[in-house]
This record gives sequence, C-alpha cells and structure tokens, in this order.
Amino acid sequence: MRDENLSRRKFLQGLAVAVPAGSVLVQSRVQAQDLPKLDPADPAAQALVYVEDAAKVDTSNPMAARFEAGQDCANCAQIQGEDGAEWRGCGIFPGKLVAAKGWCSVWAPKP
Ligand code: SF4
Repeated sequence: MRDENLSRRKFLQGLAVAVPAGSVLVQSRVQAQDLPKLDPADPAAQALVYVEDAAKVDTSNPMAARFEAGQDCANCAQIQGEDGAEWRGCGIFPGKLVAAKGWCSVWAPKP
C-alpha cells in the first residue's frame, strides 16, 4: 500500500472519531443550558438547605452549622459545567442547575 493511501486512511479514521466526540460535547452544552434551575423550595433542596445565594445561608440551622464565608457552589467539589457560568450542573441534584453563588449542606472543597 502506498504511503499516500495510508496517511489518507489514518486521517479519515481520526476524523471519524473526532466528529462524533465534538457533536457530543456541543450537544451536552446545549442540554445543560436547557436544564431547569433547582427550586430552593424543592423538598430535596430544602433537605440540604440549598440557597441560591450563599450570603443568605441560615447559620442558625444546624444543617448549615459548618458553613463558612467564601464557600459557594462555584468552589464546591460537586459543581459541574463551565467555570464562570452563573448556573451550573451539580452532582447532588442531577437534571437541575444550581446557582454558582449558591450553597447547600453537602458543600465540600474542590480537590
Ligand atoms: S453540592 Fe455543592 S454545587 Fe451542589 S448545590 Fe451543594 S454546594 Fe452547590
């Protein structure tokens, strides 16, 4: 087999892998943006004392006793999606977006 045919074949094989991977990335971004925002009144959100603004954490609630200033969803280990986005996915609330400046009792620092 000639080198030209071999390199064309390798190029096409690489393209076949790259195009679907790119499609999945674009699709997952579009889908993430379409997700509904987590309602703080949702029973699961209430159980974990989720708030959309960490400045409004009720520290008198024992579930929020370990809250410290500076903690928010954007610097939590469970946050997903792109840095800088106002609303992002969360590993604890699948299928919903949480506020980057929010907080809940599951907060843990990013590794
Ligand atoms: S687990 Fe982390 S990212 Fe998810 S809502 Fe709680 S604090 Fe925010």
